[in-house]
Amino acid sequence: MDSETKAEFMRVLVTGGSGLLGKAIEQVVKQEGGCLEGEQWTFLSSKEANLVDLQQTRAVFQKYRPTHVIHLAAKVGGLYLHMKENLHFLVILCSDQCKKPEWIFNCSNQNMIVCVCVDFTDYRGYFAQHGRRYTAVIPTNVYGPYDNFNFENGHVLSALMHKTYAAKKEGTPLQVWGSGTPRRQFIYSLDVARLFLWVLREYDEIDPIILSVGEEEELPIKDAVEMIADALDFKGQIVFDTSKSDGQIKKTASNTKLRRYLPDFTFTPLSEGIKKTCDWFVHNYDIART
Ligand code: GDP
Repeated sequence: MDSETKAEFMRVLVTGGSGLLGKAIEQVVKQEGGCLEGEQWTFLSSKEANLVDLQQTRAVFQKYRPTHVIHLAAKVGGLYLHMKENLHFLVILCSDQCKKPEWIFNCSNQNMIVCVCVDFTDYRGYFAQHGRRYTAVIPTNVYGPYDNFNFENGHVLSALMHKTYAAKKEGTPLQVWGSGTPRRQFIYSLDVARLFLWVLREYDEIDPIILSVGEEEELPIKDAVEMIADALDFKGQIVFDTSKSDGQIKKTASNTKLRRYLPDFTFTPLSEGIKKTCDWFVHNYDIART
């Protein structure tokens, strides 16, 4: 089926529509021409479509009758929130008796890979028995506008952007947690959103796909800290608090499969994505999740 024929049938429901990825998808759909003619896109926040609330889910599905669901609603947080509240991070994908969409995909991060594998066994069964397609996309560390910039609970880049902003304002040193040596692959939320649209339209596998920059772009946290300091013009002292956990020393993910499908996809360079996110944060401080 080509994209235009597909478009006639697509009513896409995005859960978690007010978060980091939901907002990025909304931008691509509404401002970058990501919405094709005949398509209907609905973005609902986790409160409006909490898929663990079956009654609400039934009502939402009956109202919007989605043919496709991008299920993003989840509890989101960085290493230190995971350490504090590990059990809250189990992902449960609920199904219900009301009319199911034809295609669901579920977003997870690498910490959730175990849960995804559990879901994934079910995905194969759903396809075999009911012809329903469920898949999971697995981005590496996502960052961008509308992230959670909380000092304690945010992911590394967003937490450090906020800490750098505050350190500059108060004239204090910037406290980076851990040694700064662990390495990570970072992906800009708008890139993930563009890839999501591709997954939705073109990716027909049930097997999950990792959305990531190349392995060679995995870099030490301290290099990312320097980019944040540059972006926010922070000239103060940078201190590494080694009493805090480093977490995994690296989490290298391969994007070979993605590259097989999309050899020419251009990722936003990290320094550019960091600059855009810092600018967004500074200009939207009052509404940012802090
Ligand atoms: P992870 O990639 O799943 O481990 O999660 P994070 O995005 O929280 O990144 C954690 C890594 O960043 C660890 O190596 C931390 O030591 C380091 N890091 C440095 N400063 C911070 C911070 O302020 N917040 C967070 N979340 N991580 C930090």
